[in-house]
Amino acid sequence: MNAVIYRGTREIGGTLIELSSGKSRILLDAGYPLFLNGNPIDDKVAKLPHEELLKLGVLPSIDGLYAWDPPGFDGVVISHAHLDHYGLLKYVHPSIPVFMSPGTKTLIDLSQTFKIVEQYPINSRLFNMYEPFDVGLFSIKPFLMDHSAFDAAAFEIQAEGKRVIYSGDFRGHGRKAACLDRFIRQATKEADVLFTEGSMVSRSDELTITEDKLERLVVDKLKDKTGITLVQSSSQNIDRIVSFYKATLRLGKTFVVDVYTANVLHELHGLGNKIPYPSYKKMKVFYPLRLTKKVFDEIGAEYANRFSPYRISREQVAAEQNEIVMWVRSSMKTDLIRCKLKGGTFIFSMWQKYRENKYQQAFEKWLTEQGFNDIYMHTSGHATISDIRRLIDGLNPKRVVPIHTMDPNAFLEYSDKVDLFNDGVTFEV
Ligand SMILES: [Zn+2]
Ligand SMILES: [Zn+2]
Repeated sequence: MNAVIYRGTREIGGTLIELSSGKSRILLDAGYPLFLNGNPIDDKVAKLPHEELLKLGVLPSIDGLYAWDPPGFDGVVISHAHLDHYGLLKYVHPSIPVFMSPGTKTLIDLSQTFKIVEQYPINSRLFNMYEPFDVGLFSIKPFLMDHSAFDAAAFEIQAEGKRVIYSGDFRGHGRKAACLDRFIRQATKEADVLFTEGSMVSRSDELTITEDKLERLVVDKLKDKTGITLVQSSSQNIDRIVSFYKATLRLGKTFVVDVYTANVLHELHGLGNKIPYPSYKKMKVFYPLRLTKKVFDEIGAEYANRFSPYRISREQVAAEQNEIVMWVRSSMKTDLIRCKLKGGTFIFSMWQKYRENKYQQAFEKWLTEQGFNDIYMHTSGHATISDIRRLIDGLNPKRVVPIHTMDPNAFLEYSDKVDLFNDGVTFEV
C-alpha cells in the first residue's frame, strides 16, 4: 500500500490523503485550504476558474480525481463536514462515489440548500459508524469522534494486510469525549501508519475547557446580568448549541435560534440524534428579515413554515429581552435594531481570529455603542497535546505521521516513531 499527503504535512486545513493498493485508489478528505502561500486564503480565490486554482495549488495536481480528467479513484471518504475537509468535492469527478456519515451528509446538504456553499451534485454513499465498508480493495471502519463538527469520523483502513489509521479532526474535551476513549480502546493497535491531526500543537494558547465547564461558566457569568444575551458561534457546532441551551435552561431563560439554526437542529434530530430542536421546552425560533426572505424566495417555504408554532416575533423579543439568550450572526444587525434592545451581554464563542474580519468588527462596534458587555467564551474543537499523546501511546502504531498541523516537528517530542513527509511525496505504508 502506498500513501501520499497532497496537503497537510505542514498546514492546518485542506487535507487530502491518497491511499493506493494494486489498482485501487481512495482519497481521504477533499479539503479546501485555509491558507495560500502561508497567508489566510482570500474569499475571492474560490471563485477563480479551475485552471487558475490548479496553478495556484489550491487544487493539487492529482491524476484521475477531477471532473475534467478520466476518473481514476474508487472513492473519496470524507471525515466530517468542515470545508477544510470537503470543500474540494465540487471539483471531484461526478462518477466517483463519496462516502460520508449521515450527519456529515445532512450538514453538507443544509449548507448547500441555504446557499452557504455553492450547490453541486455529490455522488454520496452513507456509512454507519463502527460498520466496516469496502471501497475497491480497501476495507474501512469508521469510528465516531469528538469534534466541533457533528458526526465526525476517524477511519481504520486495511488492504494487502497493511493497516492505516486516520484520526480526522478530533478532541477529548467535548460532549462526546467518551468517543475518543472508545476509539483508543477499540481501534487496532500497532497499525502500520497513524495519521494524526495536530492543530493545537501551534495553538497552545487556545482554551481547552470541557463543554460541561463552558456551560457552567455561562451560568456563572450570566446569573447576575440583566438584559438580553446574544451569542455568536457556528450554527453547525452542535456541542456548543447544546452547552448554551442547557445553560439557558439552568438560568430559567428562553433560548432563541434563527430559522437556519433551527433547520440544522431539526434535520439532525430527524436522524435519530438526541439533540435539542425547536419543539423542546424553552426554545423559540426567530425569523431574521434577510434570511427569511431568502428562504421564501430561493430555498423553499417549508424550511420556514415548519417552525411556525415556535416563532418568536421582534415584539416578543423586545418585551421579554431580559429572559432571552439568543443565537445571532453579524448579518442580523437590522433585526436587532427592530427588537429595541436595551443593552445586555454579547458572548463571542468561536476562534478569536474570526473577529478580525471588517464586517464582524463593525457589528461588534455597534453592539458596544448599544451598551453591550463583551465576553469571550470558547473551547477548541481540536485535541490538546496530552490527548494527542494519549492517542499515540494508546494505539502504539509502527509509524506516526502528523497531519493538519503547522508544527510537525513538535511531534518528534511525543514519539520516537514519527515520520515527517512533504506534501505530494509518495511513500510505502
Ligand atoms: Zn480541519
Ligand atoms: Zn474540523
